[in-house]
Amino acid sequence: MNDITKNSILPEVDNFKSGYVSIIGNPNVGKSTLLNSLMGMKLAIVTPKPQTTRNRITGILTTDNYQIIFIDTPGVLEPKYKLQERMVKTAFLATDDADLILYMLDATNVDTELEKRILVHLSESNAKTFLLINKIDLVDKRSLLPLIDMYKDKFDFEEIHPISALQGDGLSELIGLIVQYLPQGPIYYPPDQVSESNERFFVAEIIREKVFLRTKQEIPYASSVLIEQFKERDKGKTYIQATIFVERDSQKGILIGKRGRSIKTIGQDARREIEEFIGNPVYLDLRVAVKENWSDNERELKELGYF
Ligand code: GDP
Ligand code: MG
Repeated sequence: MNDITKNSILPEVDNFKSGYVSIIGNPNVGKSTLLNSLMGMKLAIVTPKPQTTRNRITGILTTDNYQIIFIDTPGVLEPKYKLQERMVKTAFLATDDADLILYMLDATNVDTELEKRILVHLSESNAKTFLLINKIDLVDKRSLLPLIDMYKDKFDFEEIHPISALQGDGLSELIGLIVQYLPQGPIYYPPDQVSESNERFFVAEIIREKVFLRTKQEIPYASSVLIEQFKERDKGKTYIQATIFVERDSQKGILIGKRGRSIKTIGQDARREIEEFIGNPVYLDLRVAVKENWSDNERELKELGYF
């Protein structure tokens, strides 16, 4: 990172502030929705299902006065298999790097049991921490005060700030607060760069989102997407070949569906969004294959890009 700064052709700006801001919390509280709303674009996939996010996803917000690198993380849960272990580790690692941590709650569903590990971890961290109470569009405003009081007693938050990540309530105030707490620092990334992840990653995520939205029960959790080929071909069309790996033959059958109906819908939905994302027509060649028990196998997880 220092190298980028040193060799950077970007102008030096006095009083420029910059830093890493990690968003952490229980599954489904709205972390990815917040990242997207703050960035004004969809970077992280969002579904009503918990455990949608599996990786660290960055969003880089740059103005003339500051550069914030937001880090969206998987929800912290009690891990039952290796992928989940990895997810929790990813979330905690993101707090170690952070200048500021946004600990996020769902005002409609406060799970104090699940959050214990997070609060212990936060208390061991040196970073400053805000509490964000999300989904306030769904609750009576009067219920917020007792919640705020309860959390004041639990942890020494620098700020406690209610928001609706979905509707945008409280977000410009949130950015103002974040900037107040950011240290002075360099421009780490060119101003037009919006993430550390590459196009391939986002394309795989778009496909995975469609699987999450279109399938039920264990299928979303047994699915992982690998981009096998990504290239410009004739007439400016981008050719993308991707494989959706599932864990068992029976899941493969369900994912493909009767006469291929299910996989076809997933492919169509994904192609449309990928075209919008990369700004180019796409030929999407989607395949389904079995990698037995990949989610509980270190080597397979590595091959699928989770390490
Ligand atoms: P994550 O698991 O913490 O990343 O949560 P997501 O961002 O994936 O959101 C989980 C669900 O909560 C999705 O269905 C979102 O649309 C919904 N959601 C997130 N933020 C809000 C909010 O402020 N208000 C409402 N009503 N729903 C929200
Ligand atoms: Mg998420």
